[in-house]
Amino acid sequence: MEVIITGGGIIGLSSAFYLQQAGHNVTVVDRTDMSDSCSYGNAGYVAPSHFVPLATPGIVKQGLKWMLNSKSPFYVKPSLNGTLINWGLKFMKSATQAHVERSAIPLRDISLLSKQLYEEWTNVPGLSFAYDPQGMLEFFNTEENARHAEESVKAAAAIGLEARLIDKATLQQMEPDTAINALGAVYFPGDAQLYPNLLMKTLLAYLKQKGVKFLGNKEVTGFVTSGNKVTGVKVNGEILPADHVIIASGAWSAELTRQLRVNIPLVGGRGYSVTYENAPWKFRHPVILSEARVAISPMDGNKVRFGGTMEITPLNTPPRMQRVEGILESVKRYFPAYDIPMPSADKVWYGYRPCSADGLPYIGNTARFPNVTVATGHAMLGISLGPATGKLVSELATGQKPSMDITPFKVERFG
Ligand SMILES: Cc1cc2nc3c(=O)[nH]c(=O)nc-3n(C[C@H](O)[C@H](O)[C@H](O)COP(=O)(O)OP(=O)(O)OC[C@H]3O[C@@H](n4cnc5c(N)ncnc54)[C@H](O)[C@@H]3O)c2cc1C
Repeated sequence: MEVIITGGGIIGLSSAFYLQQAGHNVTVVDRTDMSDSCSYGNAGYVAPSHFVPLATPGIVKQGLKWMLNSKSPFYVKPSLNGTLINWGLKFMKSATQAHVERSAIPLRDISLLSKQLYEEWTNVPGLSFAYDPQGMLEFFNTEENARHAEESVKAAAAIGLEARLIDKATLQQMEPDTAINALGAVYFPGDAQLYPNLLMKTLLAYLKQKGVKFLGNKEVTGFVTSGNKVTGVKVNGEILPADHVIIASGAWSAELTRQLRVNIPLVGGRGYSVTYENAPWKFRHPVILSEARVAISPMDGNKVRFGGTMEITPLNTPPRMQRVEGILESVKRYFPAYDIPMPSADKVWYGYRPCSADGLPYIGNTARFPNVTVATGHAMLGISLGPATGKLVSELATGQKPSMDITPFKVERFG
């Protein structure tokens, strides 16, 4: 079978991995040279602890407060853009407690499947990604978040995930290199971390060596259809024949699904990161600063990456350096001896998370064109969920029973 994948981020490459393994001729088309996308500069967490979707009652309330602060972690640009308005209305409607409860098991299951597949990937010759399964610490520094942490530990236990409340003294022992200013943390021993830049680089090289074709700097502009089948993909004026098409174009996926009259509410949630090599600031674990929503990732032996911010904004808005200042200043609130300097603008990375309107990914064949599989909307979880999504995509494309129940990820769930 000729399979064309639109998008060479982690979701496209993971899909290529399993489709190639299943014996298909796979071509990946990307409008960039695939050396940078949202799948590169992220925090690299493989996080079953993230079983709460982005759409929660709390984030809507908090988001409204944060909107007036240019350094805050969450920002929705007030806009007359129809896509953003439509997404925002659906997001607010989805953000209920019942939705949070319904989403926990599907998110847990896809995360655990993905983590297991990453562990298999550590044994694949040629793939290397500095996988570190030592768990993650989520710091808290307010009484309100201390209560929230207790609830998180209970909620995790209720679905069989291990989470431990850590007091300040134990936290200081776990992170002994500098004085910590936090009330405590939740430790998620089941989380892992990897170095995404290395993962992407070695995955690309591995797939090329296995015979996957890559068309870089080529844009998918549309599709050729016949009845309820897509028979070709339009790439820079040429038509590539296809038996099956995978739409894995990250935050831009809705531009392509729209052409097939498949509606997926999706916006880009911009985040920023800064990476230092051989830095003097030492962290023993991946850390999330919960009030600041900042991730600190000690990576690949000698690197540390500070990342965060969720900025819902049109995809062509210039980057806002105040957001990066906000990230770096928040580190000092928890680690008072660490002064992380603001780097020059060319050292700041940013990427667009593909955010669905309910915080769950869109994974499935479309009802209108069953030979088109959509795989996007992973928001803050694309690295975590990459291999599991790739495996599910391969199963869906070849008519096999998916490895898990994917009903909650139905592509056309918003009509
Ligand atoms: C600051 C930050 C921290 C994060 N931390 C984590 C984390 O710790 N753990 C985690 O799991 N996730 C994290 N994420 C989220 C994660 O990075 C994303 O969910 C993931 O990278 C999305 O992958 P993707 O393949 O869907 O999209 P992308 O990586 O954006 O890839 C999509 C590709 O499609 C291509 N494309 C688009 N349109 C077309 C077209 N028409 N024709 C051809 N090609 C096209 C693009 O060029 C791009 O290369 C973080 C994100 C940010 C911003």
